[in-house]
Order: sequence, then C-alpha cells, then structure tokens
Amino acid sequence: MRKQIVAGNWKMNNDIDASKSLVKNIIKKLKKKSLKNTRVIVAPTFVNLQKVASKAKKTKVEVAAQNMHQAKSGAFTGEVSAEMLKSVGVKIVILGHSERREYFGETDAILAEKVNAALENKLEVIFCFGEVLEDRKSDNHFKVVESQIKNGLFHLEASAWKNIVLAYEPVWAIGTGETASPEQAQEMHAFIRKIVTDKYNSDVAESVSILYGGSVKPANAKEIFSKEDVDGGLIGGAALNADDFVALVNSF
Ligand code: PEP
Repeated sequence: MRKQIVAGNWKMNNDIDASKSLVKNIIKKLKKKSLKNTRVIVAPTFVNLQKVASKAKKTKVEVAAQNMHQAKSGAFTGEVSAEMLKSVGVKIVILGHSERREYFGETDAILAEKVNAALENKLEVIFCFGEVLEDRKSDNHFKVVESQIKNGLFHLEASAWKNIVLAYEPVWAIGTGETASPEQAQEMHAFIRKIVTDKYNSDVAESVSILYGGSVKPANAKEIFSKEDVDGGLIGGAALNADDFVALVNSF
C-alpha cells in the first residue's frame, strides 16, 4: 500500500527559535495520533536542519532538506552536499522545487545530477515538477510535466524508485491561494502514474507516492487528498502553523 505523506516546506522562513518551537508543537500534536500509513515530513532551512533533526529523532516527524548540491565536495561557495545532509541526520531531500528552477536556474539536467547524487548517498528524493499558467492555458501541461519527469528521473533503474516521491506542483497554484481543483489534480496524477507504468511497470507506478502541492490548506485538503491518485501534499504556507499542518495530517 502506498504511503500517504504530508511534507511541509518551510522555505526561507523561521529562525532557530521559531524552527525548534514549530517542530516541537507538531510533534506534541501528533503524539496521540496513530500514523499507520502516513508519513509526516518537515523541511527547514539548511542552518536549522541539525537542531530540527535532533528534536525530531525517534518521533513521528521526519526531516528533509529543501535542496542540495550535486557535487561531493569542493569549491562551490554557499552550497551543501548530500554527505553533509546525512551527517546532520537528514534522510530526505526536496529537489526541483519550482522556486529552485525559476530563481536559481536549476535545469532538468542539473536536477538529474542532483537526483543521482542524492540516491548514491541513500537520501530519499521528493522530486517536484509542474507547469506554469501559460502551459495550462495552451493545453501543454501534460507535455511539460512528462518532459520534467522524463528528463529528471527516467534514466533511473526501476529499483531506484523505492526512494522517490513525486510532487506535482502546478506553479500557478503555489503561494497564490489558487488551487488546482481535486479533479485537475487527479487527472494529472493519473497521467503521471500512466507514464511511469509505460516507462517501467505497474508495480513501480502503483508504489510511488504522488503528492499534490499548491495552496493546500485545512479547508481544501480533505477533498484533494481523497482523490485516488493523490497520496498527500507538499505544503508551503500552511506548513508554518502547527495547528494547520497537523490538521492537514488529519485530513486523510
Ligand atoms: C510549495 O511551495 O511547495 C507550496 C505548495 O506552497 P503553498 O502551499 O504555499 O502554495
């Protein structure tokens, strides 16, 4: 059975005190909840990863980085490697977020290298992709999503997919208050499962969790998460408030 996942991307928010208090509150609120098939992930900034990971150790909360560099080490000022993430207790990394693609020039080719580096270091990857509004208006959204997945992930062996989580995030719905309708999300997620089946097989496609991201809030989560091929959410804004975030976990 596929895992349901709620992953909170804190982006460039929360200093150390705010990060510690947010993770502490989430852990507290989840304490009495039995999370049989649900994973809860938070992704603080690099500087707060170690503290948050140590607070989350042996709890129901897992910790992810928001990015990493593809090289092992070297003259890459300001960057952080997969090994460094592992050394502070991180086991998951988000790659390909639209903000990384748009503001930091991360291309499909760079992302494929990052995916390889993460998997070589036994990090699990939450791989993000999604169309911009123009693509949807011109009916190119399926093509765009297919090409991002193909270029970023289809070089992998089938066995590598056990460490991949997909996150469909239509760029027009991120931080805009605009959400894809549950039907639009389901339509795209079913399409994604189909292209993964065609490339690999139905075992791989049926096992991979596909998250939806884009203005998910407690008010709309239930309906989106109830769709057959939607296995949870990658959450921005609503992940910064413990009550809202835990309400999302409770929406399954
Ligand atoms: C995101 O940035 O991944 C995201 C989904 O943000 P928001 O929930 O704020 O739209």
